[in-house]
Amino acid sequence: MLACGQKSRYSALMQQPTAHVPSPQMTVDAEGTPRSTGFNDIYFSARNGIAETQHVYLAGNSLPQRWHDQAHFTIGELGFGTGLNFLVAWKEFTETSSGHLHFISVEKFPLTIAQLTEALAHQPQLADVAAQLIAHYPLRLPGWHRVKFDRVTLTLGFGDVSELLPQMEANVDAWFLDGFAPAKNDAMWSTDVFHQIARLSAADATFATFTAAAVAKRGLQEVGFMVQKVQGFGHKRDMLVGMRHGEAHGSRAVKTAIVIGGGMAGCSVARALAERGVQVTLHEKESIASGASGNPAAVLYPQLTKYYTPATAWHFAAYDFAQRTLAQWGVKLNSTGMLKIGKDDEDDAKLRSIRESLQLDESVAQWLEPEEVSARVGQRITRGGFFFPHGAWLNPADACRALLHHPNITVHEHSKIKELPTADAIIIANAQAANDLLPTELTMGVTAGQVSVLAASEKLTTVLCHKGYAIDTGEALIIGATYDREDLRGAVTDANHAQNITELHEALPMMQVSIQTGRTSMRATTPNRLPHVGKVRDGLYVSVGHGSRGMISAPLAAELIASEICGEPLPVSRALRDALAPR
Ligand code: SAM
Repeated sequence: MLACGQKSRYSALMQQPTAHVPSPQMTVDAEGTPRSTGFNDIYFSARNGIAETQHVYLAGNSLPQRWHDQAHFTIGELGFGTGLNFLVAWKEFTETSSGHLHFISVEKFPLTIAQLTEALAHQPQLADVAAQLIAHYPLRLPGWHRVKFDRVTLTLGFGDVSELLPQMEANVDAWFLDGFAPAKNDAMWSTDVFHQIARLSAADATFATFTAAAVAKRGLQEVGFMVQKVQGFGHKRDMLVGMRHGEAHGSRAVKTAIVIGGGMAGCSVARALAERGVQVTLHEKESIASGASGNPAAVLYPQLTKYYTPATAWHFAAYDFAQRTLAQWGVKLNSTGMLKIGKDDEDDAKLRSIRESLQLDESVAQWLEPEEVSARVGQRITRGGFFFPHGAWLNPADACRALLHHPNITVHEHSKIKELPTADAIIIANAQAANDLLPTELTMGVTAGQVSVLAASEKLTTVLCHKGYAIDTGEALIIGATYDREDLRGAVTDANHAQNITELHEALPMMQVSIQTGRTSMRATTPNRLPHVGKVRDGLYVSVGHGSRGMISAPLAAELIASEICGEPLPVSRALRDALAPR
């Protein structure tokens, strides 16, 4: 038997957060109806699933009539399943509205891409939108994911409804309550869930659900909905619809924004706002991408830690968003994948134990043994490692320029802002220089990093991360970067080249290299590895302190700020939003 102290230590260990996301036990019958064998219920009927969604969820919420004249309309769904409801709403919305649809949904057992493809294969009317969903489906990681389509934004939470809804912030106009039947799945119909539905409801929000169960009716009435029983779909006699009166809170329309800083953080925020119709003016004191974003190549990959801590969750969510969204924003990604190996035997053992503790899904990273690693890299390597199939590299300066390529963005280079200007919104995104503009709010540190640009004897077929990284751009091998807190003069030194090359040779001893050139830049760092992102005070925001992870964290930071400015659903959990907020 365990002693008391041992027991609490033991249970604390048991609760260490992992990145595990369970997939559903699902079958698809000959007709094409997907069924959950876990819940013993169907997701939808292949023959009339679309008609059922139209009857229950669209007509039940008086749609499409209600979204006709709305610039923004928000749907909240419980139970994303195969995404059928989402796809039907998306298609109907594009045909009947010129506005923007936000669709928020939660799913405890997210389908794998293979399951999703199989489940939607028998719905030819939805083939175009289904293909887009499959192409942009989030990585199977816990928590909230933001997926952007043309005039539709999907905010999809992977996890239990009881943990996800309290972490959301949104004003939902219409609810699709599509958890399996209360008798089979009471977790979706709990008092706490009904309270969250009420908290997240906009003024005069409506709901519709296929069930007429008393527990649903009572629960929704208790949180203020007027509930009505109406004709169900097909052979189902009844279903429930309802409305909850409330007062509308007008949000401040933001038409203009000033962004300070022309690196990845500033360019991403300019783009996220411009996409929303905001007129953005960006000021950069030198030229675009002259700071840390001026390196010749950078890799998109999230740092691995033993458990899924808040910082890890942020970087993985940001990686997931960046690898999907940067390409949509016109950035060229070189999707070679990324391989992470240990820098020595001790590190190798650490990675193997992370494999056990973090439990990353195959869609995110696959563990490879040394022979498979060697085959991937095209070089003999004696250690195992994680292969990130969505890992990619980009040219940061090209990326910044692509982000700024938008009719709503005006750029002023060599324009140093000394005092905060006036605009509906100001976003400070100039890394450590922000310390001067907000001396009481920010105290970021600085580290110098040197990259070495080499001619190499062998080609790499994927990005390789060991202690540092090695990116083969086709023209050169870019390796780095050093990490120096003391010498901040920014000079390129032979000693730093030698350090970069020694580390490269620890991973790839056979690689012969010669130095072509190098570059040193400064990174703004924070004590807890999380950047400072969000509101400082009304109308003033920051996106700074991204350290060496700006390529992945700047786009989601931008999306968070733009969502806050424009009053849209949060793209990340409230806990993450609060952890990132500058204090
Ligand atoms: N709307 C879906 C569609 O269009 O395919 C069908 C939803 S299906 C009827 C119900 C979904 O709720 C299932 O995918 C199930 O895994 C999910 N679910 C059940 N319990 C849950 C919980 N506690 N938290 C989050 N999702 C849950």
